[in-house]
Amino acid sequence: MRVLARALVLWLTERSLIRRIVQRSSPGRRFAGRFVPGDSLQDGLHAAEDLAGRGIAAMLDHLGENVESAEQAAAAADTYILALKQSRERPELDCNISVKLTQLGLDAGVDVCVDNVERVLQVAAESSPATLVMFDMEAHEYVDRTLDVYLSLRGRYPALGVCLQSCLRRTYDDARRIGGPEAIVRMTKGAYLEPPDVAFQRRSDVDRSYVQVARHLLESGSTLHLATHDERLVGGALEYLDRTGTSRERYEFQMLYGIRRDLQARLVAGGQPVRVYVPYGTQWYPYLTRRMAERPANVWFFVSNALRWRS
Ligand SMILES: Cc1cc2nc3c(=O)[nH]c(=O)nc-3n(C[C@H](O)[C@H](O)[C@H](O)COP(=O)(O)OP(=O)(O)OC[C@H]3O[C@@H](n4cnc5c(N)ncnc54)[C@H](O)[C@@H]3O)c2cc1C
Repeated sequence: MRVLARALVLWLTERSLIRRIVQRSSPGRRFAGRFVPGDSLQDGLHAAEDLAGRGIAAMLDHLGENVESAEQAAAAADTYILALKQSRERPELDCNISVKLTQLGLDAGVDVCVDNVERVLQVAAESSPATLVMFDMEAHEYVDRTLDVYLSLRGRYPALGVCLQSCLRRTYDDARRIGGPEAIVRMTKGAYLEPPDVAFQRRSDVDRSYVQVARHLLESGSTLHLATHDERLVGGALEYLDRTGTSRERYEFQMLYGIRRDLQARLVAGGQPVRVYVPYGTQWYPYLTRRMAERPANVWFFVSNALRWRS
């Protein structure tokens, strides 16, 4: 049922008429503002400052994916270099960055992508300590290439991490391959609609896989970013971390901008490290559709607000 609702929302939001309505109408832009603080780097940095005021660290994501040319990929790398330089000018911020490899040219070729990633990593390494750069994980067709690029670079750039998705059947094996004291891994459930041959379809299986992979990563000495808004998983993780006496240097909780601010605040009040993923930029539509598909109630929220606005 949940998978069907998700598929329906994704199908609807891919229709060009709906895309135009959401992108161009003021209710659409207002709704996007709940998940994306704005179009510019300054908007992202303002959001990071606001989070810092609440004891929360930030991770900037300049929105964009599947760019079509090597020039667009190089331009995307430049935007990250600017973000690194400008956040460095604000030493009061604990701010790292997250990139999508298809935004940095993966579709144009692994070499194109690695050149762009290395340019970003070199700037990230100029600060002391180096600023962490995370690789987002995209749809399952990109997992092999993303992990290969990550493994080929992490020896030279230790402040590099990667996201894994517990919905994928392969992920426990991937965690065994990359886990270890040199690994920095963001653990998510996965935001893409994936077919049954590659991904668990039942929520209980996705959650079980999340716990299994997260435990393996911690036991192997990896640094773990627990990226979820699921209170049951957060509660279970807190109990496990406390019982095993895991140092706060080795983990943090992560959530998305605009989601479960109450839970973020509760964790901060309990002395837990929390970081929020702050997406910014004009290319917000695909990101927004994933947030809608995760929680179809968001669609009804948008539609009812749009109708209220029109009446
Ligand atoms: C920091 C961070 C980085 C991420 N990076 C990636 C990535 O690189 N690749 C990737 O595939 N996925 C990524 N994701 C998304 C992730 O895979 C899930 O799709 C998303 O987090 C929803 O799953 P959940 O773990 O919160 O659990 P769910 O069971 O989906 O949700 C638990 C609760 O969280 C709240 N919630 C969840 N989603 C929403 C929403 N959209 N709107 C409102 N409330 C919501 C609801 O209260 C819900 O009951 C990331 C998530 C986070 C937090």
